Amino acid sequence: MIVVTLQRKKCIGCNYCVELAPAQFQMSRKDGKAVLLKSTEKKGFFTIKSQDHSIFDACEKAVEACPTKIISAKSI
Ligand code: SF4
Repeated sequence: MIVVTLQRKKCIGCNYCVELAPAQFQMSRKDGKAVLLKSTEKKGFFTIKSQDHSIFDACEKAVEACPTKIISAKSI
């Protein structure tokens, strides 16, 4: 399973995650921060769990590129 999390509050809206993993991230027009698509929120952390391992590489690139280090991606 692939688990991706986003600590959304700290997002600075640089758009890197959207460029690198557009299937998982979009920018919000409301507040200019990234949205982790289809995620659920708990205490400020937005999470998706997916059986689709093909999303991992793109998400990992977003993890590495994010300047505020608020994305994590794990394969478990
Ligand atoms: S890469 Fe990080 S800081 Fe930049 S938009 Fe995505 S979540 Fe926000």
